[in-house]
Amino acid sequence: MQAYLVGGAVRDSLLGYPVYDRDWVVVGATPEQMLQQGFRPVGKDFPVFIHPDSGEEYALARTERKSGKGYTGFLYHASPDVTLEEDLIRRDLTINAMAMADDGTIIDPYNGQRDLQSRCLRHVSPAFSEDPLRVLRIARFLARYAPMGFHIAPETLTLMQQLAQSDELQHLSTERVWQEFQRALGESAPEQFLRTLMQTDALAVLFPELLPAAQDSNTLSQINLASDPRVRFALLLRRSFAATPAEQRSQKIKLFCDQRRAPNAYRDLALQFCHHADQLCQFNQLDAAQRLGLVKNLDLLRRSEHLSLLLQGCAVICNNNLSVQQQLPLLLQALQQIDPKQLMAQGFKGKALGKAIDQAQLEICQQQIDGESV
Ligand code: ATP
Repeated sequence: MQAYLVGGAVRDSLLGYPVYDRDWVVVGATPEQMLQQGFRPVGKDFPVFIHPDSGEEYALARTERKSGKGYTGFLYHASPDVTLEEDLIRRDLTINAMAMADDGTIIDPYNGQRDLQSRCLRHVSPAFSEDPLRVLRIARFLARYAPMGFHIAPETLTLMQQLAQSDELQHLSTERVWQEFQRALGESAPEQFLRTLMQTDALAVLFPELLPAAQDSNTLSQINLASDPRVRFALLLRRSFAATPAEQRSQKIKLFCDQRRAPNAYRDLALQFCHHADQLCQFNQLDAAQRLGLVKNLDLLRRSEHLSLLLQGCAVICNNNLSVQQQLPLLLQALQQIDPKQLMAQGFKGKALGKAIDQAQLEICQQQIDGESV
């Protein structure tokens, strides 16, 4: 039996990138032999094993045959006589279909190295069209590699368009779609992910609500400027739901996030940002009560970790407008100095204590405004 490093690890090491995840393919072995060597099986009837020491994944070389809709509709055939080339041909892109032997030799039957050099994302075989997840994966790889000059081969783009226009995309699970989307939001050029989904018509099927943002070049450059994926998501939703009447916006955003199974951290920031971005960007024009209302609505006194994310979003939409970036953290700091115990020591309790805190907070907001006008 022979093990080869495959997929992303080979691609990234040839690109000179650090390698975090290493996947291996084992040729010429049976499941029983793997178990005898101490490997642990990943699942029942699935030819993937975990190395007892490194914890890395070792998959038996396999072929696959489409048996149903979606990316799960495949029948696998793993046996000791499946060759490395047969295993590599079922992979999505030529740059992901290379293997490396123990001695560092690259096995590259589908010209992945040529495509790495010409910065081309190209499918390996016509079987590419069998798995709709690949539309999302290739869009995500473009979001990662476009800044290095990569493009999608025209013939691959055509297959992606055909896939997106068939009914295959509807068979992807919500979790898998969100997973790819979230990963794309963390890549260096997430704008490319949306552009590619638009270009292939996949966006209209998977995220029709995001069409207004994806058609707006200003929003697309904004999401590239923000660095946190949650802020990028919030910027997209802000633009996408801009035309929704204010009283329906929360409900629509919540529905969108729930249907896509977006984690709460994404949903909450997007909701806050969509509602308060305008006020945040005009912070220096707000009076004391409005400033305090904003801090309370955003729940910043309890959840101050949101502050830096909100400010990141504001910096992007108001072109690094420094006023809110300086004023809001200062105000929050001052408000946090209010000590209810001191007020209690002065005899305030119950409702009167609440009122005294409110009053002290308002005064701090007013002091900030007075300080600004000096
Ligand atoms: P990343 O750096 O994003 O993790 P990766 O290439 O390592 O990229 P994985 O999802 O870990 O991505 O997949 C490992 C390898 O398995 C890929 O390089 C590719 O060869 C193959 N692969 C994974 N998913 C698919 C798919 N849907 N269709 C075809 N090949 C796939």
